[in-house]
Amino acid sequence: MIDLYEHFCRYVTVPIWAKWERSHYLSHIEYLKTSQYDTPEIIKITQWEKVKKILDHAYVNCPYYKTLFSDIRMHPNDIKSWSDFEQIPLLKKDDVRNNYENIIAANMGQKTLHHGVTSGSTGKPLHFVADEKGLQWTRAQIVLTQQWAGWRLGEKKYAISGIHANENTKNVRKYLRNKLLDRISLLNTLEIDENSMISFHRTLSKAYRPFIYGFAHAIYVFAQFLEKLSLMNIHACGVMTGGMILNDHERSLIEKVFHCKVFNRYGSEEMGAVACECEKHEGLHISSGKYYVEFLNGDKKALPGEIGSLVITDLSNYGMPFIRYQIEDMATRSDSMCSCGRTWPLISNIIGRTSDFIITPEKKIISGISLTDFFAMIPGVVQAQIIQDRIDHVIFKIVKNQEFGDESMRSLKEIERRFFGKSMSVTYDYVETIPKEPRGKYRFVKSQIAKDYFNISL
Ligand SMILES: [Zn+2]
Repeated sequence: MIDLYEHFCRYVTVPIWAKWERSHYLSHIEYLKTSQYDTPEIIKITQWEKVKKILDHAYVNCPYYKTLFSDIRMHPNDIKSWSDFEQIPLLKKDDVRNNYENIIAANMGQKTLHHGVTSGSTGKPLHFVADEKGLQWTRAQIVLTQQWAGWRLGEKKYAISGIHANENTKNVRKYLRNKLLDRISLLNTLEIDENSMISFHRTLSKAYRPFIYGFAHAIYVFAQFLEKLSLMNIHACGVMTGGMILNDHERSLIEKVFHCKVFNRYGSEEMGAVACECEKHEGLHISSGKYYVEFLNGDKKALPGEIGSLVITDLSNYGMPFIRYQIEDMATRSDSMCSCGRTWPLISNIIGRTSDFIITPEKKIISGISLTDFFAMIPGVVQAQIIQDRIDHVIFKIVKNQEFGDESMRSLKEIERRFFGKSMSVTYDYVETIPKEPRGKYRFVKSQIAKDYFNISL
């Protein structure tokens, strides 16, 4: 069905809404559209200016960085080259946890700061702050990459995601915003079952060249379901996946079912959209206007093709500067240029970052990554892991601290009731630590059932 509102939305609603919100994301998009073709030299110069600016800002306004520089007997004025910059100690996730208040810039008005919490695939909460101006850059970056995947400004979008899933229906303003501006239809990954998938398929089949995005494995599960029922009538313009890495089999199934290409995007709650595939699919372009990304193998730079730990400097979040932030994901970089002509450097492969699914006795599929943020908000839960050993049994492994009490227990019971249902029994196992996987990553969910259920290697 042709979308009659699309043009009105693009040329009237979108600009008026941006003006009303005093948001500059539309002009940021125009800037990014040009700067993605800048020469590598211009990119480096621009990044250097932004790095210097955020270093000065962090030194003056964030006690954490002031102390950090004094510990290494340096001043931002001493940082005169990229190799000087590489002398700055890494910002690890535990540094963010332990110095939260001191990393937030003192000169930013409280009203401009947005608070967030994430646990990603690790199950260990990480609180962070992003300032409004930085978020508008993230927004622009997301729109730009969605346009790479064929979506047009003003068109509807179809999300397979669990984040803020019910927000749009609860609050009138948010409902209107979604109806008139964002135009997102949602398949909630916290409540995926046959009925919800059938109903989402019905919505999608009425759409003209829909753009689909969301959690990679949830999209895969949906595609697998549609294939099983031979519901192959959705012709999407593009499918954008994030949150987890798809293997080749999963990716080609999604492409077959939706008759379009998959665009893998890499990012996180605290960083935003760091890198994304373009229409040529030769790697993920790093959004160089907003991030400076390093690949470290030990304390050396990883060579192209060599697995390295990603270290990211966010050049636009002045509310809580993340400088040389070790995000705990592994990736390989490429030094070749993409044939699309964009000059933003390429990540050839994201490695690591796995999550899993829980299958309930009622055959409800719960994606682990959808649950992590619920655990992150429980007081006293330092880290958590869910292990499913039988179709009707899961173990909650919990590392707790002194804040853990009745309220924490109530929240856990609420999660049990809401997501796992009556037939699932839960054993609580309070532990000192949760061991890492061989590759050094935590897995929030480990299901011994899901692998057989999906008949894939998760
Ligand atoms: Zn490209």
